[in-house]
Amino acid sequence: MQREFGIHMKGGVITERNADFSTVRIRTPAGVLSVEQLRGIARIAKTYGSGEVHCTIRQTLEIPHVDPKRLKNIAKALEKNGTPLGSERDEVVNIICCPGTERCKFANIDTISLAKKIDAKIFGKEMPVKMRIALSGCPNACTSPMLNEIGIIGRVVPVRTRERICTGCGTCVSYCKEKAIRIRNGISVLDENKCVACGVCVQSCHFDLIKAEHRHFLITVGGRRGRHPKIGRELLTVETEEQVLFVIDRIINWVYRRAWSGRLLSEQLDELHFEKFKEEIMKQVPGAGTVVEKVSEPKINS
Ligand code: SF4
Ligand code: SF4
Ligand code: SF4
Repeated sequence: MQREFGIHMKGGVITERNADFSTVRIRTPAGVLSVEQLRGIARIAKTYGSGEVHCTIRQTLEIPHVDPKRLKNIAKALEKNGTPLGSERDEVVNIICCPGTERCKFANIDTISLAKKIDAKIFGKEMPVKMRIALSGCPNACTSPMLNEIGIIGRVVPVRTRERICTGCGTCVSYCKEKAIRIRNGISVLDENKCVACGVCVQSCHFDLIKAEHRHFLITVGGRRGRHPKIGRELLTVETEEQVLFVIDRIINWVYRRAWSGRLLSEQLDELHFEKFKEEIMKQVPGAGTVVEKVSEPKINS
């Protein structure tokens, strides 16, 4: 059987267990497709595959059982449909995210829009290691960002206004799953060490006393799933999407220039001098830092 080796070597084309067939993975930034694109994919799957479509864990779709002789044609059809070939090799693979502020009441950031911006800049870039990027709109972390090579989590700092007096009703206390708020001397008090900056208490106060301040993005590096899962290390927090894009660009360059292939990023962080990189990038991003350092207003305290 004559194969089209050029296209067969591309990320997004996967040889199946039965090597007479390929699975074709589709680029799906933020896991979002229009109804028209979905119709097109269904048509293409019927024409080139077995009529089935498989949903992957990275929010992409893939078309199984494609004849390797027809790879060029399916790639063209997918491109025309606005859903080009995806990726799965040592490269920047599909950027995933939760619904974020577009739909989720807990979200602190617009994950979908940011994921699309990241995709537009770096999707498919060949790397020494696979780079998975996941975004979550809040610390509930529904997309498990910290188990990805790059994780992004939207957070806020709860600050109780002093304009009006806290009644000590305790509603915020019952909403906080981290037991980070308690009532002391008749008013709410925050334990910063327990607070995960989710912002749930902000919505809980009937008197609108708690404000979400210092909306920010926590960026983590070097997490992984798989047979030996590992939590990514905290790199820094930044306050704007532009800063997120800048930091991701720096992480990608750092990994591209220094990492060894054949090993996961999580196994190389110390050899790559992660702490030194962290120090350097903190200096390059104006205002970057930890949440605690950023807070100048009184938090929920007396
Ligand atoms: S991570 Fe937070 S914002 Fe995203 S879907 Fe889950 S609860 Fe909603
Ligand atoms: S932000 Fe509020 S609800 Fe979330 S952990 Fe902190 S105190 Fe608790
Ligand atoms: S901050 Fe609001 S919800 Fe919390 S104790 Fe005070 S009044 Fe009640």
